[in-house]
Amino acid sequence: MLIFVLNAGSSSLKYQLIDIKSKELKASGLVERIGIDGILKHEIGENKKLTFETSIPTHKEAIELVLRILTNDETKVINKIEEIKAIGHRVVHGGEHFKESVLVDDDVIRKIEELIPLAPLHNPANILGVKICKELMPKVPNVVTFDTAFHQTMPIENFLYAVPYADYTEHHLRKYGFHGTSHYYVSNEAIKLLNKKDSKIIVCHLGNGSSVCAVRDGKSISTSMGLTPLEGLVMGTRSGDIDAGVIPYLMEKKGLNHTQILDYLNKKSGILGISGVSSDLREVIKSANDGDNRSKIAITMLCDRIKKYLCSYAGLMHGVDAICFTAGIGENSDLIREKVCEGLEFMGIEIDKEKNSKRDKGNREVNTKNSNTKIFIIPTNEEFVIATDTYNLIKK
Ligand code: AMP
Repeated sequence: MLIFVLNAGSSSLKYQLIDIKSKELKASGLVERIGIDGILKHEIGENKKLTFETSIPTHKEAIELVLRILTNDETKVINKIEEIKAIGHRVVHGGEHFKESVLVDDDVIRKIEELIPLAPLHNPANILGVKICKELMPKVPNVVTFDTAFHQTMPIENFLYAVPYADYTEHHLRKYGFHGTSHYYVSNEAIKLLNKKDSKIIVCHLGNGSSVCAVRDGKSISTSMGLTPLEGLVMGTRSGDIDAGVIPYLMEKKGLNHTQILDYLNKKSGILGISGVSSDLREVIKSANDGDNRSKIAITMLCDRIKKYLCSYAGLMHGVDAICFTAGIGENSDLIREKVCEGLEFMGIEIDKEKNSKRDKGNREVNTKNSNTKIFIIPTNEEFVIATDTYNLIKK
C-alpha cells in the first residue's frame, strides 16, 4: 500500500512515497523556492537523482508537479495517482489538542488553524498542504502527525514556566517541545536495542534545529525546546536558552521592534552568530581546524550546552541507560559526539573513540565495553513514523 508523506513549509515542500508493507522508499524529493522561481530535486528509490527548474508560483502547482513526475512516462514510479491510498502530513504545532496522529476532518483543520498564533511560521503552510491534497485527491484520506504530540506526556512540573499560573490556563503558555516524531522514533529504536521497556533514554536530535529529550519507559518526560523551537540548545541560527532580560535590553540598545528581536534570536544567533562563519557546522569545524578562535568557541558552547542537558536529564531520571545521537550533526559528526561525552566517565558514560570515528549506516553502538550507559547512533526516520501512523489510522 502506497502512502504519500508531505511536509509543507512556507516556501518549500518535502515529500516521500513509501510502500508501507515492504517499507520501500519509492521516491522522495524537495521543492524549494515556491513563489520565487522554483526548483524540484527528485529521487527515485535511493539512487536516481533528477532536478527540475520551472516556475512554481504556489504550493498547489508544487504538489501538482510532484504528482505529475510520479506518474510521467520517463520518471514514473506509479501508473496512476489513484495508487496512492493515503496521505500523511507533518504539522508542527498540535498544542494540547493532539496527543497523537489523527485522521483529518473539518474539526481537526479548525483546531490546527486555532493554533496558528503558537506556530505562525509553520502551521499555515502545513494546513495549506492538507487543503490542497483534499482538493487534488478528494477521495484519499489525510492524516496529520504533530511535532509536539510525543511530548504531551510531560508531567506538569516539567512543562510549566515559573510564571503566574493563569497565563497557562488563559493563554496556553507552557513548554510544548518539538521534534517529537524523531524523538519517538529514535527512543523506540533504542528500546528495541536495549531490549527493555522500563528504560531511561536521552535522545540528542542535533541538526540545524536541535533538541534533547528525556524518555522514560517510552514516554517523553522533558525536552529542551519550549513554547517555540527557540529554547534549549545552541542551534545553527537560534540562540537557545538566554536570560529573558536580554530581550528588552537589546530592543532598547539596538532599537529593535518585536519582529526584529525574534529574527535576531532565530536567524542570526547560535553557531552562525558566535562564529560569524556559517550556520553549517561542517564549515565551522573546518574554520576551527584552520585556527579560527570564534569557531572553536562556538563548537565548545554547542557541546557544553548539550552536556548540561544530558546531565540534568540523567539526574531527573535517576540514571540513564542509553544516550542516542541523531539528525545531521548527531549522525555524522564524531567530533561533536566525542566532545559531548568527554568527561562524563564519572557518570559511567564512556565513548569508544575508535568505534565512534567509523563512518557507517544504520543503528550502531559506540560505547566502550565498560560503559554503564549505551551510546547509540540512530538515523532518524520521521517520514516512516508518519507513514506508519497514517496506515494504522486508515486501517481502522
Ligand atoms: P539536519 O538539519 O538534520 O539536516 O542537519 C544539518 C546540520 O548537520 C548542518 O549543520 C550540517 O553542517 C551538519 N552536518 C552534516 N554532516 C556533518 C558532518 N559530517 N560533520 C559535522 N556536521 C555535519
